Amino acid sequence: MKVCKFPAKSKEHAYKSFTDKQNNLQAEKFALVPFNKRIVFAPHCMRNVAVCAAVDKGGYYICAECGGCKINAISKLVKQLNYKALYIAKGGRTIEKIVKKEKPEAVVGIACFFEGDQAFKMLKDAHIALQFVPLTKDGCTATDTDLAEVERVLKQTN
Ligand code: SF4
Repeated sequence: MKVCKFPAKSKEHAYKSFTDKQNNLQAEKFALVPFNKRIVFAPHCMRNVAVCAAVDKGGYYICAECGGCKINAISKLVKQLNYKALYIAKGGRTIEKIVKKEKPEAVVGIACFFEGDQAFKMLKDAHIALQFVPLTKDGCTATDTDLAEVERVLKQTN
């Protein structure tokens, strides 16, 4: 299933400004949430589809830690820190469903700026602290992110 609403590049600056502001506003609240009440969403477009062994659960994948992409390191760190879960989401609808089911107190979302913008708007009334980490290479396949930045955000505590 391919779900990618790749937005016009011209809007990226506005999405970046909005997500930067929201990250700053929510950072303190996020840091207060224990690791085991946080979940992480990574985008399916980061997977190395040539080798990916992730388990397809319908709306999302669970990483099998095959070592084929950076989600491998993220999955290992999420387990090491005792996060509630890591989901490789196929789209926004799935994220909404998982959030309703899991009821996390905080979420880390790795995505393009457009999806980050959408996530802050989606979680606005749910009292869930969100920290967004942007993709450094976006698009609909073979995307990338800054692993050091993901690690910094995942480890945030007060
Ligand atoms: S590390 Fe995980 S997400 Fe990445 S290619 Fe392997 S199984 Fe797929």
